[in-house]
Order: sequence, then structure tokens, then C-alpha cells
Amino acid sequence: MPKTPARLDAAQANGGPWYRDGLRFECTQCGDCCTGAPGYVWVTAEEIAAIARRLAISVEEMERRYVRKVGTRKTLIDIAERNWDCVFLDATTRGCTIYEDRPRQCRTWPFWESNVKTPEAWRHTCEVCPGSGKGNVVPLVEIETRLSVVKM
Ligand code: SF4
Ligand code: SF4
Repeated sequence: MPKTPARLDAAQANGGPWYRDGLRFECTQCGDCCTGAPGYVWVTAEEIAAIARRLAISVEEMERRYVRKVGTRKTLIDIAERNWDCVFLDATTRGCTIYEDRPRQCRTWPFWESNVKTPEAWRHTCEVCPGSGKGNVVPLVEIETRLSVVKM
């Protein structure tokens, strides 16, 4: 049996978080979360290496072309002339061109701590992400698993 995240046990002990019955989410593939304003898509060394492998380029070239440093961290670049599209967003299809190797930050959206901490925060997330609040219910255990991957 897979392990349940420790934070889920803690939440259940207190009657569960406000979203204990799950939250609806079904991505419409609109691409809105990958564009629209300057931002950060944080990447680890492992994620950079995985994307470089996918693109069949060296890590050095990957970093030179697609990554910038912010303090001690690294983020994928976004393109000001293209409405701040993430560098890996396809300008035509609005799909992610590295989808299978997209960073954890992208895999776990919209289930970030900042998005679910209150019903109001989730309502705001639903306003900016057309797939949030729609579609099938994502159960609590899956939400908590994604929340435990990155602190956002
Ligand atoms: S904004 Fe929401 S619905 Fe649109 S691509 Fe991103 S996750 Fe999917
Ligand atoms: S890596 Fe892909 S999913 Fe993540 S922001 Fe860029 S285009 Fe979007």
C-alpha cells in the first residue's frame, strides 16, 4: 500500500482541511498558467539535466539558452516580447513542449499551498485558471501529495 503523506495524517487528525472532500480540476490546456506576466518557474539541477537530455543538448547549453539565475536559484526564462510566455510554451498550440519533463512546479499546479490555503485563495485560483473548480474531483490524498512536492 502506498504511503500517505505525513501532512495528510496531521490534517485528518484535526478533522481535515477545508478541502477535505477534494477539489475539482481538469486542465483545459489553455496555457494561461505559462504566460501573461513575468514570473518564475524554478528548476532544480535534476530538472535541468532531464530537460537537457530531452533536448539532446548539454546542461551548459540548456542553462545558457533557457535558464537564468535569481540569487542562488534558477528559473526557466520567459519571453517579454511574447507576453512573457515561458520559453517552453509553444507559441502556436499553447502546449508545453517539454511536457513529460516539465518541472515539479508545473506538475503540481494548481495544488500549491498558496492556492488552497483558504477558500478565497482557491476562488482566486479558479479565476486565473479555467480548469480549476471544473471537471472531476481530485481527492484529498492526491491534493496533499502534490502539496508535499514543492513549497509554493
Ligand atoms: S491555466 Fe489551468 S486550465 Fe489553463 S493550462 Fe494552466 S492548468 Fe490548464
Ligand atoms: S515548463 Fe511547460 S508547463 Fe511549465 S511553465 Fe513552461 S510551458 Fe508551462
